Amino acid sequence: MAEMRPTLDIVAPFFNEAQSATAFAALLDALEAAVSSRFGMQVHKILVDDGSRDDSAGRFSQALSGSWEIVRLSRNFGKEVAVLAGLDHSRGDMVLVMDADLQHSLETSLKMIVELAENPDVDVVYAQNDRRGASWRRSQLAKLFYSLINSSQRFDIPENAGDFRVMRGTVARALTSLRDKRRFNKGLFAWAGFRQKAISYSPENRASGKSKWSRLNLIAFSLEGFTSFSVIPLRLISLSGLLAAFAGAVYGAKVLFEVLFYGIAVPGYPSLLVAVVLLGGLNLTLLGLIGEYVWVTLSESKDRPVYIVRDIVRSDVPARSAPGVPGA
Ligand code: UDP
Ligand code: MG
Repeated sequence: MAEMRPTLDIVAPFFNEAQSATAFAALLDALEAAVSSRFGMQVHKILVDDGSRDDSAGRFSQALSGSWEIVRLSRNFGKEVAVLAGLDHSRGDMVLVMDADLQHSLETSLKMIVELAENPDVDVVYAQNDRRGASWRRSQLAKLFYSLINSSQRFDIPENAGDFRVMRGTVARALTSLRDKRRFNKGLFAWAGFRQKAISYSPENRASGKSKWSRLNLIAFSLEGFTSFSVIPLRLISLSGLLAAFAGAVYGAKVLFEVLFYGIAVPGYPSLLVAVVLLGGLNLTLLGLIGEYVWVTLSESKDRPVYIVRDIVRSDVPARSAPGVPGA
């Protein structure tokens, strides 16, 4: 009976990436050859079609070789959810998550796999973007985001680390037990814990097409991070409310003092207007913020599944040797 080989699952979500299909499949082939010769690993690829509107799935199924499956979702659910769908279908001893747009290189993937294979003490190796190309303003904004979001919890969300990572099967299974409907993967990875190790990398330039993240998307996504993982915005607003009330009280005392002891008439409406506009603005902001949190609560309380699978296309090669099947 052949010895069971360790298995590596590669999870890659794609949305309208027909142009990357051939090159990405070639990258996967090279990766498979490398890990199979180096660690004797058996590779299974799990691609998730996140509701592509072009012929991405067709292109990928023609280009892929070896053992693979394409999980086709019923519509576009967003990358965070597509990654979950991929993890749900994984069973490997190790799971690598990477983008299908060729921004995540073979070299970095291999480096992470080697790191994990050679360090029994580590459970997750993640790639940390060195942001070499980012503007100063962007990186300062990112810094502010992370310091705010990390200021109120027991676990830290590491800076500039995304879905590009390799983890042990136990970690992948743990992640699939987190069924948040509004998903902020960076936060979920951190929440799950385990012993994580970072390696630094620079993402490649996009080979074709463009990033699906607009500036507005990024802002919305950051808000998602807060409403999923932090009470800091609520606390900051409460604090500013408290400060405003305090300032109002001090000002009121001053006016009263002047009227009583110096007979100075209360000045006209400018101060009133300032107070009304300021407090009105604060109130609306707070209300909107509470609304965000309520919206998250509402989405989580509906018992909808996180995503729906339309169908699964598979390779002819048997997906994986079942435990104990001889010679598989
Ligand atoms: N993606 C996805 N669903 C989406 C948007 C993107 O599955 O709704 C995939 C996309 O095809 C790519 C990966 O997620 O493989 C990263 O997306 P993108 O390149 O747009 O993000 P960026 O690299 O700019 O972070
Ligand atoms: Mg990309």
